[in-house]
Formats: sequence, C-alpha cells, structure tokens
Amino acid sequence: MTKIVNHWIGGKTVEGASGTYGPVTNPATGEVTTKVAFASVDEVDAAVAAAKEAYLTWGQSSLAQRTSILFTFRALLDANRDAIAELITAEHGKVHSDALGEVARGLEIVDLACGISVQLKGELSTQVASRVDVSSIRQPLGVVAGITPFNFPAMVPMWMFPIAIACGNTFVLKPSEKDPSASLKIAELLAEAGLPDGVFNVVHGDKVAVDRLLEHPDVKAVSFVGSTPIARYIHTTASANGKRVQALGGAKNHMLVLPDADLDAAADAAVSAAYGSAGERCMAISAVVAVGAIGDELVEKIRERAEKIKIGPGDDPTSEMGPLITKVHRDKVASYVEGAAAEGCEVVLDGTGFTVDGFEDGHWIGISLLDRVPTSAKAYQDEIFGPVLTVLRTETYEEALDLINASPFGNGTAIFTRDGGAARRFQLEVEAGMVGVNVPIPVPVGYHSFGGWKDSLFGDHHIYGNDGTHFYTRGKVVTTRWPDPADAPAGVDLGFPRNH
Ligand code: NAD
Repeated sequence: MTKIVNHWIGGKTVEGASGTYGPVTNPATGEVTTKVAFASVDEVDAAVAAAKEAYLTWGQSSLAQRTSILFTFRALLDANRDAIAELITAEHGKVHSDALGEVARGLEIVDLACGISVQLKGELSTQVASRVDVSSIRQPLGVVAGITPFNFPAMVPMWMFPIAIACGNTFVLKPSEKDPSASLKIAELLAEAGLPDGVFNVVHGDKVAVDRLLEHPDVKAVSFVGSTPIARYIHTTASANGKRVQALGGAKNHMLVLPDADLDAAADAAVSAAYGSAGERCMAISAVVAVGAIGDELVEKIRERAEKIKIGPGDDPTSEMGPLITKVHRDKVASYVEGAAAEGCEVVLDGTGFTVDGFEDGHWIGISLLDRVPTSAKAYQDEIFGPVLTVLRTETYEEALDLINASPFGNGTAIFTRDGGAARRFQLEVEAGMVGVNVPIPVPVGYHSFGGWKDSLFGDHHIYGNDGTHFYTRGKVVTTRWPDPADAPAGVDLGFPRNH
C-alpha cells in the first residue's frame, strides 16, 4: 500500500482535505512509494490560525520553558538520527552516512537554540541623563513561515525553526514536496519533547500553499531556501506584502587552485565537494579554476579519484554516491554533459550512460568531469546541481578572481594555496558570502551565520547564528526615568528632549 504523508497542524496529523496529492519517489528504484497531501488555501489558513493561537501563550512563555523543551528535543533528535537519515535516503536518495551528516549539522542549530538566552540578552545603559536609563530588548515577531528545498529535508528546516521558536515565535513549515517525511518525523519529536500544540506546524504542497503563506496577513516573516528564480520571486512577493524576508538561492561555487597548492589535497577536496550527495548541495564545488601550469596535473589527479567513486543505492553501506532526485532532473543534468563538447569543453569523464544493475529504473547518472570549459558554456553558466565538475584554466590569480567575481552567484568559494598572503587577499577580494581557505565546503558552524551574496541570497539577513536571532526578533528600546521625590517639578517644556 502506498504510504500517505499528511499535514501537521495544531499538534496532530491532519488528513489532506483538498483531494490533491503529489507523488514521492524512491530515487534508487524509480518507484512511487508515497503520496503527499497538497494543501489548499483553507488548509494553510488552518495552520496559520493554529500558530497564531499558540503564539498567545508561547510568545509570553519564559526563556527557561522554551529552552528546556529544546533540550529535550535535542536528546530525541540525537536518539533518532538513524531513523531520520533512513527517511531522507528513501526519498532523497543520498547515502546513509551523508544523511546522518545532514542531521548532525541540523542538530548544531538546535544546540544554538538551546543556548538562545545568551543571544537574547538585552542591553542596558544607566544614567544616560539625570535619573534616566535606556534598555534595548528584542521580542518575537509572531507567526513565521519557512519554505525549504528537497536537497536537505531535515537540515534546512532546522536552520530555521529552532531559532524561530526559541525566540518565542510560532512556525509554519512548507517542506519540499519531493521528500516530505523527515519534516513530519521532526514534528512528532517536537511534540514528544513537550512543545505546545500549534507552535510548530507543517503544511505540504506546491505553489498554492507557498503563495498563501506569502500573502497571509498573519504571517510576519518568511524564510526561504531553494533555487534562485523562486528565491527572487519569494523575496519580491513577500516584501510587497509587508513581510520580513530572507530568501537563499542557488549557487555556482568556485574552487581556486594556485600553483603552490598541495595538489593531492586539492584533488581530494575537489572530488569530495563536487560529487558528494551527487552534487545536489548548494555548497557543492562545481567549478575548479586552475591557475598557471598545474592544470593538467590537477585534472589527472581529480580524474583518478573521481572514477573510483562507488555509485549505488543510498541504503547500501558500500555506496558513496546515490541517484538524483527525479528522472526529469537526471535528464537535465545529462543534457549539460551531452552538449559540452559542442560548446568547446574537453569531456574527460562522461557519466551519462551509467546505471546500476538491478535498479535500472533509478535516477542514475555517473561522474562527469569537463576540462578547459569556456565561460560561455551552459555547463559553466548554469547551476547544474548534479555530479558534473567543470575545470577552467587561467594564467594568473587576478584573472581567476575576475572570473569568479563575474559570476552572478556568490554563495561559497574556496582557495587552495600554501601562500597566506594570497589567501588573505582572496578572502577580502572575492565576492561571495562564505569563503574556505583550504576548506572546500565552508558551511559555517551554527554560531556563525550562513548566507551568500548576489543571486545566492535576497534579503538583508543570513540564516542562523546572530543573523538568525535578529531575523526572528524585532528591537525595542525603553527609556525610563524615576524622578526623585526631592526634585523640583520639570515644568512644561515644548523643546525637543535633550539629555543632560
Ligand atoms: P526549488 O526552488 O524548486 O524549491 C524550493 C521550495 O520552493 C520548495 O518547497 C518548492 O515546493 C517551492 N516552490 C517551487 N516552485 C515554486 C513556485 N513556482 N512558486 C512557489 N514555490 C515554489 O528548489 P529545489 O529544487 O527544491 O532545491 C534545489 C535548489 O535549492 C538549488 O538551486 C540549490 O542551490 C538551492 N539551495 C540553496 C541553499 C542555500 O543555502 N543557498 C541551500 C540548499 C539548496
């Protein structure tokens, strides 16, 4: 029997009433295993209403009450790492160890939320004028929404809701319809941890559900992570509706390799960062820029390593890389490799003919490596989001930097070198939000914030870390005077108040 994934509203599962369902496929077998309910406008409204009702008490709850629930949730999450990872592998396709890594990085943000008291500490200035004190505090916004992509069905929601609810907001999540089960498991664990009904809600669905969240008058802020065109749309629409919005988009992450780099370490890093999770990571390295004469040697070292990658179902412990999310996406990724030679690329490895015996209907594609890629090639210009690594060659550091900075994307980037001065220059000169120095996937730890520049992020706030706390709270400044009974009355003074 096909499994059905329903909404989670007001602390319980709610069957889809719209009658519309979407298919969820196991990417390794190509089989539709699950139906996911798609929310109507009324169902989204019910979730927002539940969140609004819960905010009346959650917004007034103490820091101690909120963090104590988050500590219990953290323990449950820790105990359920494997169960969540299994759900991710069954619907996303990534290998189990990679799915466990995603849960671990999400757990880091729960850690941060458990300690939110430190971040929410206000500021006090005493005696700013005679008997006058000023304090700055931050307060929650109300109902906030999160809209998340398929590629991290557990981690990306956890970039958002732990901080949001720790700050006193209530949350409505619209996860990706392609792999919805992990979010429901998380909702159950939050309830088990004692989270009051309605503080965390999940509505599944497509554009209908998203658009309702973007226009609903009771939704105060929207966090989005996904592709650039949709991120731009979310930012424009939610902003026009008066909401605070952060919308993280797609990427094309460059790894610059200088001639003095340790080429073995650089090749290991390039292969891990390009092909891990089949390239379906927003921080995947998709373009290596080889500077000077090292290009041939570097490409050879990448090729040697890349051809050994074992591709297979994510629940096979010997697999290092799984299938792609959908057949349509698999074919799109293949089209970039198929068209590469005609666009002037040198095709070193072509993974388009790859399949796995016994799993012929899975969404398989092998490893592809394209060398001497011109910047005009579609394989360079577009975010491919698959296991295709492009290599570009330049003569100098300056040429490489200009190439990277000309990209419309600016999510992550990395430099590989032994030269501290060059690395320092790069971190100051490159136009990207996250920079690695001999680190290929520089995803910041939870207590720093994550976010890109240019078409990789629309809005003013990066996600989690201090930016997360700022995004999910608004400032209030209180100026207080307690006059001494012995003071002479101030009298009426229509002048603008001055401090003295
Ligand atoms: P996507 O943009 O297709 O979908 C993201 C979310 O938006 C989903 O919940 C989806 O249901 C919804 N959506 C899709 N089309 C919509 C529309 N027309 N109107 C309203 N809502 C819509 O992204 P995806 O394919 O799920 O995820 C992959 C993309 O996400 C890649 O581009 C990747 O780089 C990006 N990503 C970025 C980051 C980051 O931190 N910058 C992190 C992870 C993924």
